[in-house]
Amino acid sequence: MIYNPEQYSIKDESMKPFIDAEEIWNYINSVKSTKERVRAVIKKALNKNRLSLEETAVLVNTTSPELIEEIKQGAKTLKEKVYGNRIVLFAPLYVGNLCANNCEYCGYKASNKAVKRITLNNTDLVKEVEALQDAGHKRLILVYGEHKKYDADFISNSVKEVYKVKKGNGEIRRVNINAAPLDIKGFETVKNSGIGTYQVFQETYHPETYKKVHLSGKKRDYDWRLTALDRAQEAGIDDVGIGALFGLYDWRFEVLSILRHVNHFEAVYKVGPHTISFPRLQNASNLNIDNTYKVSDEDFTKLVAIFRLAVPYTGLILTARESQKIRDEIMEFGVSQIDGGTNIEMKGYSKNETEQDIDKEQFVINDDRSLNEIMNELIENKYIPSFCTACYRLGRTGEHFMEFSVPGFIKRFCTPNAILTLAEYLEYYAPAKTKEAGYKLIEKELEKLGNDKRVEKLKEKLIALKEKGKRDLYF
Ligand code: SAM
Repeated sequence: MIYNPEQYSIKDESMKPFIDAEEIWNYINSVKSTKERVRAVIKKALNKNRLSLEETAVLVNTTSPELIEEIKQGAKTLKEKVYGNRIVLFAPLYVGNLCANNCEYCGYKASNKAVKRITLNNTDLVKEVEALQDAGHKRLILVYGEHKKYDADFISNSVKEVYKVKKGNGEIRRVNINAAPLDIKGFETVKNSGIGTYQVFQETYHPETYKKVHLSGKKRDYDWRLTALDRAQEAGIDDVGIGALFGLYDWRFEVLSILRHVNHFEAVYKVGPHTISFPRLQNASNLNIDNTYKVSDEDFTKLVAIFRLAVPYTGLILTARESQKIRDEIMEFGVSQIDGGTNIEMKGYSKNETEQDIDKEQFVINDDRSLNEIMNELIENKYIPSFCTACYRLGRTGEHFMEFSVPGFIKRFCTPNAILTLAEYLEYYAPAKTKEAGYKLIEKELEKLGNDKRVEKLKEKLIALKEKGKRDLYF
């Protein structure tokens, strides 16, 4: 039976599993990707409409190079329409690598004795955050292994600690987290610490593969993980991030399943996830995965373009797991957030060691450029690097965020806010060369915005920032 998206409100229930593997394969196996159909789907997406599972399957099944190029071009146009040319920057910070799970793909699996287990104490945490603030970061994602030590109180205390750190002009304005699923009470505790997004990936949505790669530990429970963000919603966390680890199972299945997860959210909570991530499997200490489902660069870039078209208003995150080359290519047609100056070694930011050691990290990263190197490149390529945190701080999350974002909100609010946070970076953290190039970019962006009341206000704020030492200005 082909799934009818009109019916998902009948089918989906809060905290009930919603993935039917047969249904997903049914779409992939039954949908034909004719030229006319692919073009019609791209056209629908360009009108900023969400695509159904069936329509997404049309794109997933496209193999003609000419049509794949049209998908990528479509994604590029849509990205420009919805997001403008800004890219939001963040950094991951590993708080603890103790882990009770045995996941075949992960360097931090409990059975891997080659890894030194470290949990940052408050002094360590402050040092890491200060180093990140010195580089100019404003948005962090705190990352934790799954271990009884990292319960809701532990997570919540570390989040509060991070917000307290203020070195010089630095401060962290948004703390997101990536941690194992909690129960509703646990999610409530974490919500009260003031987190932004709660992110947890299903890794693979394919139940059999899931069991195969998660050998032991709580993570072996597929349904507990699948319904994690339902419990987060029930606890009042309406800003959540989903994703899959690409390389464990057929990428086409994972793309449609992620979409199915979005449908579930929209059906039950009337709001989609804030972000989708698509980490691709990288080498790791004691890695034990064969290459059957390895995702080629070609398929990877295509799948990101498909996500952009399928969910125009969901943020797409691309991390330093990928090389500069892939990041540059994919940024053009899909991604809205990247990490910069990434160091995933425990205590790595304060040590400032760039040399990678496979036994000290969860996996290998392929882009170890500093934040400023990434800022330079973004500016050179006419992106506006953004550290904006306004929506979350003004309560524009979840359903509200959706409402605002739909009629071009992102461009009206986000571009000015991106400009203001870029100017703050240029004033307080950038070397002279970056500062000069950054202000040139801002001038060009101001010209593009034209002349209305909002632009006047934006110019006033920029003067306050440059001449009166004001910081943290936003709309
Ligand atoms: N404790 C967290 C959990 O279980 O949700 C994991 C934190 S880890 C930073 C976040 C993600 O990294 C995992 O969910 C997984 O998708 C990804 N990851 C794990 N091993 C990886 C590897 N070898 N290559 C690339 N990404 C990997």
